[in-house]
Amino acid sequence: MNYQDYEVWFVTGAQLLYGGDAVVQVDAHSTEMVKGLNESGNLPVKVIYKGTANSSREISEILRKANADTKCVGVITWMHTFSPAKMWIHGLLDYKKPLLHLHTQYNEKIPWDTIDMDFMNLNQSAHGDREFGFITSRLRKPRKIVVGYWKDKSTQSKIATWMRVCVGWADAQDMRIIRFGDNMNNVAVTDGDKVEAEIRLGYHVDNAPIARLVPYVNAVKEEEIDTLVDEYERLYDIAEDSQKGTENHKHIRAAAAQEIGLRRFLEEKGAKAFTTSFDELEGMDQLMGFASQRLMQEGYGFGAEGDWKTAALVRTMWVMSQGLEGGCSFLEDYTLNFDGENSSILQAHMLEINPSISNQKPQLQVHFLGIGDAGTCARLVFQAHEGQGIASTIIDMGNRFRMIVNVVDVIKPNDLPKLPVACALWIPQPNFEVGAGAWIQAGGTHHSSFSFALTPEYMEDFAEIADMEMLLIDKGTTMRNFKQDLRNNEVYYMLNRALR
Ligand code: MN
Repeated sequence: MNYQDYEVWFVTGAQLLYGGDAVVQVDAHSTEMVKGLNESGNLPVKVIYKGTANSSREISEILRKANADTKCVGVITWMHTFSPAKMWIHGLLDYKKPLLHLHTQYNEKIPWDTIDMDFMNLNQSAHGDREFGFITSRLRKPRKIVVGYWKDKSTQSKIATWMRVCVGWADAQDMRIIRFGDNMNNVAVTDGDKVEAEIRLGYHVDNAPIARLVPYVNAVKEEEIDTLVDEYERLYDIAEDSQKGTENHKHIRAAAAQEIGLRRFLEEKGAKAFTTSFDELEGMDQLMGFASQRLMQEGYGFGAEGDWKTAALVRTMWVMSQGLEGGCSFLEDYTLNFDGENSSILQAHMLEINPSISNQKPQLQVHFLGIGDAGTCARLVFQAHEGQGIASTIIDMGNRFRMIVNVVDVIKPNDLPKLPVACALWIPQPNFEVGAGAWIQAGGTHHSSFSFALTPEYMEDFAEIADMEMLLIDKGTTMRNFKQDLRNNEVYYMLNRALR
């Protein structure tokens, strides 16, 4: 996973009405702007200037090439001069990748003393970008519009967010998710239409019986386990009753074999995410909880109990946050703590929380887990650090996918000396009552993909690109307005699908 492998193309709209000299100037300005954007140090993906587009044919040619180019994850358009938008119809109809429309201008200020008609004709993004906005709206084309001076950090930061989402989107278009076992029996919210998910989101979901994985785990050599256990000893505090020489230690060695075997299996299958099931573990020593924690930290998406939608989202959110500060994890709403304004939700799971959301050294413990065939399992135990983050989920509403995003404040829990799993404690925004109420009203999962690094803007950009419903629960949410949004969206998505 390397952002250097990707590009975003920059296309400047113009026309030949103002003469060849004007286009030469437009081209020079665009070259300077793209150089400036690349040298700002604020953009995670390289911008490649693709020249001025002065006719329908030129526009179509550039956008078709963008579709076909595997390095190109999105296109930025900007209208330096007026660019009659009928020229953009064919190109935009064909164009399939994310689009960012940048509303900026080469000059920051109007040169009051010297401005004349030539200057105005050259620098007319003020109305050129509105003409372009009309045709993108008329074509119902999803896009992000960024308004601001191109040298400003706030403008560049919005472009940077979108670029990260473009890389996440490109990654999702080539995402194979392996499911070891089906959904946990009878669970509804974690299931959904896998065909629709591949059409809309790119995810390809495959089944793998656990029996296919078992030989990979059994084939792991003792020396490989030794080396990995040495790594565990360096990275984690190993509980006294599970250190080398104890009876429990064999479960840590078995977990190490699972980690190596599972990684090998996923690499061989080209999978970026996986799900497990505590009900389908024939031939395994334990539920692959510790291995899941370790692989999640490496960037594999994970979902428990067959939850492939969350596994995919965990992977996508990891991709989008590469190089940013703050970890991410699969989490589950487990237990409530009623405490007036500080009422909160304890997030945990049976085992599988990503240690990247902790700033303490995790403890490696071994305990019996009396659910399904889980057995005696190794696991990393820690508490998430404090801070603001987002919890996200995707559910299948039957006629569409719905993303729900909740801004949450992670707080410090009391000591939990008897809790044998990792956890996080948070207060959902705007408060427990409205946050939990709105999430439930929207039909949100008990599982979520959590990130300290990302903000709602990332998820809004992702939902826009996927052309997917997105509901945000944050400081501004009231139950009355939220319920009205749900009703409005019900109608909107029915008509929206009919229009395309
Ligand atoms: Mn669960």
